[in-house]
Amino acid sequence: MKKARSKKEVDGSEEMIANYGFKDGSGEYYISIDTDKCTDCKDRGCLKACPSQIFEMEVDDWDDEVAIVKPSERNKIKFTCAACKPNRGRPEFLLCQVACRPKGIAHSW
Ligand code: SF4
Ligand code: SF4
Repeated sequence: MKKARSKKEVDGSEEMIANYGFKDGSGEYYISIDTDKCTDCKDRGCLKACPSQIFEMEVDDWDDEVAIVKPSERNKIKFTCAACKPNRGRPEFLLCQVACRPKGIAHSW
């Protein structure tokens, strides 16, 4: 599965979570974006912060402009993100997460 967008019940309210990535024999590699947060996001820090420029904006099915992981990047995020995720000394928050002030980005690994 390269992309899934679903409504998820969180504390009684609905959130829109889009998942981008893949799984293989070694694990699951997904970046999740809480796209409700993108609609009110002013600075769109994710676009500038990622050294590999994997994010872009898209108008979704609800006519909201939200961040997505570029289709060409979805099959390789495990490898692209490796530089930000050293086995030792991995930062508590990744560059994309620090730049996303509304805290809308999560990584599954
Ligand atoms: S910085 Fe976060 S909330 Fe803003 S557009 Fe990017 S992913 Fe969405
Ligand atoms: S972990 Fe690094 S390479 Fe991966 S999306 Fe975040 S900023 Fe980009």
